Amino acid sequence: MKTELLCTSCGKFYPENEPVWRCACGGYFDLKFKAGIKPDVVSVRKPNLWRYREVLPVINDDCIVTFDEGYTSLVPVRFGRCTVFLKQDQLFPTGSFKDRGASVMVSKMKELGIRRVVEDSSGNAGCAVAAYCASAGIDCTIYVPESTSPGKTKQIESYGARLVKVPGDRDQTARETLKAAKSVYYASHVWNPYFFHGLKTFAYEVCEQLAWHAPDVVILPVGNGSLLLGAFLGFNELLSDRVIDQMPVLIGVQAALCPPLARAFDAPHGKFEKPSSRTLAEGIAICEPLRALQILNAVRLTNGRFITVTEEEIVTSLRKMGERGFYIEPTAAATMAAVEKYCSSVNDDRVIVSVVTGHGLKAAGKI
Ligand SMILES: *Cc1c(COP(=O)(O)O)cnc(C)c1O
Ligand SMILES: [Zn+2]
Repeated sequence: MKTELLCTSCGKFYPENEPVWRCACGGYFDLKFKAGIKPDVVSVRKPNLWRYREVLPVINDDCIVTFDEGYTSLVPVRFGRCTVFLKQDQLFPTGSFKDRGASVMVSKMKELGIRRVVEDSSGNAGCAVAAYCASAGIDCTIYVPESTSPGKTKQIESYGARLVKVPGDRDQTARETLKAAKSVYYASHVWNPYFFHGLKTFAYEVCEQLAWHAPDVVILPVGNGSLLLGAFLGFNELLSDRVIDQMPVLIGVQAALCPPLARAFDAPHGKFEKPSSRTLAEGIAICEPLRALQILNAVRLTNGRFITVTEEEIVTSLRKMGERGFYIEPTAAATMAAVEKYCSSVNDDRVIVSVVTGHGLKAAGKI
């Protein structure tokens, strides 16, 4: 089976060597891709995410852009009556899990000969894309909402990227970037399917770290759903490759101030109100996620659900995590607050995995 871009709206295929980021009809792409790994071959390789080389859709090894990132540790932490394995994705080179996607997507861009890109972000995806573009020598412009933490905007500029601050919220920023992307390749962590194939390494790593067993429950933050959809993709590949024998229950976390997916999940036919995006959890303040249907579908198919957390719960959780030695950003604390909630409602010995998505050093001002 050859790898191709597939439009999720009209079903049209594009060859993988075509430098397009969306279909002529306006739809977003998934990748048609045949995956397969051999656990014993993988296990002797260097501890980074490129150890899953066979399932990463970059053809030419010389195009790989990497800082030896990934294979972050999976630390057991006690929450009430449960032990939860927390993936330490704040320890990536740019301080968030977005490096998983950036490494694979920018490698592909290098392979395609792309010289200039735009990207938009609440901060962390911008940092990741800017860093990997710097390493690849690709000219990069990052759009952010003007309220973005200064730690993140400074970081983006340090990598030599052009920074454009957009008045308005995250969704306004995305609309501005779409205009620019009419003439420049869009290195988007939301539109670009290669980004999701980088994020799927989250699932591969978790399963390998659990001796090639799938966890029972995985609790993940959801803004645009890149991590949740990436994880879903990875678990699905491992399942169809018969490396694991179950699909974990996927639980999505949203801020109570900005819960479009949690609302749509609980009331599929309810009236949609545009939520406010002014939450401390800036990384998940997405009012209109592009891949909403895919996200809702993934959560439903795994018998999952959503948990929402209030601003107070985020603040409490941020403090509690600090007192346990984890300096994390408020968006990551939102996930930890949901983990706390989940654990106070169950009493069993299921294997639960969650993730620390971003480092506290990025958001010191907000904290
Ligand atoms: C991007 C981000 C998220 C949310 O990821 P989505 O792909 O938008 O669902 C969560 N936490 C942090 C720290 C992030 O940077
Ligand atoms: Zn199409």
